[in-house]
Amino acid sequence: MARHRNVRGYNYDDDFDDDDMYGQSVEDDYCISPATAAQFIYSKRDRHSSFTEPLEEEEDEYEEDNKSKPSCASLSPLDQARMYSCLDQMREVLGESVSEQIMMDAVLQGGFDVPKALDLVFGRDSNTTKKPATQDASSADRPGKGKVRELPSPDTQIVPKIAKLTVSGNKQTMGFAVPSASSELNGTKGQAMDDIIEEADNNGLSPTLSNASNNTEDLNSTPSQVKSIGKSKQKINVKEELEKRQGGKQLLNLVVIGHVDAGKSTLMGHLLYLLGHVNKRTMHKYEQESKKAGKASFAYAWVLDETGEERQRGVTMDVGMTKFETKTKVINLMDAPGHKDFIPNMITGAAQADVAILVVDASRGEFEAGFEAGGQTREHALLVRSLGVTQLAVVVNKMDQVNWQEERFREVTSKLGHFLKQAGFKDSDVYYVPTSGLSGENLAKKSEIQELTSWYQGPCLIDQIDSFKAPQRSVDKPFRLCASDVFKDQGSGFCVTGKIEAGYVQSGDRLLALPPNESCTVKGITLHDEAVDWAAAGDHVSLTLTGVDIIKINVGFVFCSPSEPTRACTRFRARVLIFNFDVPITQGFPVIIHYQTVSEPATIRKLISVLHKSTGEVMKKKPKCLTKGMNAIIELQTQRPVALELYKDFKELGRFMLRYSGSSIAAGVVTEIKE
Ligand code: GDP
Repeated sequence: MARHRNVRGYNYDDDFDDDDMYGQSVEDDYCISPATAAQFIYSKRDRHSSFTEPLEEEEDEYEEDNKSKPSCASLSPLDQARMYSCLDQMREVLGESVSEQIMMDAVLQGGFDVPKALDLVFGRDSNTTKKPATQDASSADRPGKGKVRELPSPDTQIVPKIAKLTVSGNKQTMGFAVPSASSELNGTKGQAMDDIIEEADNNGLSPTLSNASNNTEDLNSTPSQVKSIGKSKQKINVKEELEKRQGGKQLLNLVVIGHVDAGKSTLMGHLLYLLGHVNKRTMHKYEQESKKAGKASFAYAWVLDETGEERQRGVTMDVGMTKFETKTKVINLMDAPGHKDFIPNMITGAAQADVAILVVDASRGEFEAGFEAGGQTREHALLVRSLGVTQLAVVVNKMDQVNWQEERFREVTSKLGHFLKQAGFKDSDVYYVPTSGLSGENLAKKSEIQELTSWYQGPCLIDQIDSFKAPQRSVDKPFRLCASDVFKDQGSGFCVTGKIEAGYVQSGDRLLALPPNESCTVKGITLHDEAVDWAAAGDHVSLTLTGVDIIKINVGFVFCSPSEPTRACTRFRARVLIFNFDVPITQGFPVIIHYQTVSEPATIRKLISVLHKSTGEVMKKKPKCLTKGMNAIIELQTQRPVALELYKDFKELGRFMLRYSGSSIAAGVVTEIKE
């Protein structure tokens, strides 16, 4: 469970707008049984195909040739040790695909330099190795019809690694790299939520949100704020710095959601590969490893599914983060788990997203399985909408499985369109893209296959991502960061990871951690594995802190500016929208509050009133119970203090979700903090 940690965030969007929207859909989504889940896992395990052909033919020749070649025994003890070390490293990359003799020759030729030796081996391979994607798409158990795309070979520009941040903050290095030009991300997330509210208001989609439509300040509309810092710090103008850092590109936090097995990881892994972010050597390694594990068709998914357990189970558990660029945007990609067991993790990812890609499987029966009872398609769409995401690209994936039929595409999109509208998405903010994640069709460039181009002239996936509108961030508000992970690093102090929800931070700043009200100093800031002097709203950062003991700090604590701190409480009032939940909610009802990266047991202390869905008028005071679709004011009591904000002050930190027994039962916004 390397990346699976006890983090969950969920924010809640204001869209308690129209209960009907949420109401209809949630019901089905929570009734997945362990047996059903097991089936998903099983089906994934079962799927394997000959993603890569072995390279044995070549080896055989070599065995002959190399009989007279030097063996390890002929080397000096020191060289033998060096040889074994090199061979081990090469095995990591090559698996069993190349004989030891070939590797030894290469090591000797390369002067015990592993990269050189690998290049020599790849030099040999390039003429004989088959292209893995090609084989997979046409493999027996995946009768894909789509045109198969050849893998590009960006091996000439092998770049070391990119840091992959999990939401938990565990840095993982992967074998793909991102151009460093604008390696820094800057954030602007909170606005998505505001946009949503506004849009919902404008469209009458969420009438009950209107009182919350106070839009966040944007970067351009407020005067720039200059923060003066201690002796070691220089004054910076954050807005100017942000402009410079982004190199004119806007930051977009993108979450990929959808039912398990819809092809999310394969799609995004392949997209990253096509964009040149995964080098050939690494891809080869994934192919070998996935083949060895009997899951050859998962090689692209492995680009994103980093942990052994994810690979073993064939499901994504945690939310991985990766960065790539489009023409006008820097994209911070989060690949969320589709499996129901990991919805809290998915909530954490979605809470930090500005826009979403919803992946659905076009195959007959599969789309239906994801969309109908037990599937995560509806629940995920509802969750992200509730968490403030308004723009959605629906990727109708595995179109190769249905011969790129327009009819099937229309069938899927019309079913989804109807539902998404009810869920609060504007038609004009939902885009549909037909793809095949496995063959790479319509991902990084427009498809040219005739079966598709005869009826689809729209953008490919990367162009669609590029055309999302980027939100603006609350850079001018007081600093807020909700810890998604706390860990000891080398050196003094410890690290706290999280997304800056508002304001900005510089090295040397003093911060306050709530609820415990502990103050500390920021000793260092790391953004995507690079040490930086400052970071601003929207950035996923790791802060090195001193002046406080690590045992006093937990996941879910909010770090804020001491001059304008957040508040900690155990009792607060909120306006909630009850989802399609069959059990009547009464006073004393136990729930789990998901709030940013916090999940905290609580009870519903009081039912204050039922509100009119559209006008927000009080319809009934002190109701006995709340039922599905109702809008209500309730009072919640948590067991331990939580750091919360009023929704009207900080939308990002004023939303929450209530879950009960594995189901999301309501979305809420904080209206009053009691004590
Ligand atoms: P996730 O659970 O949504 O991340 O799904 P994965 O990316 O792990 O893919 C699940 C399975 O579907 C794997 O066996 C993939 O090889 C397969 N798959 C993914 N995309 C496609 C596609 O476009 N066409 C076909 N035929 N299979 C696909």
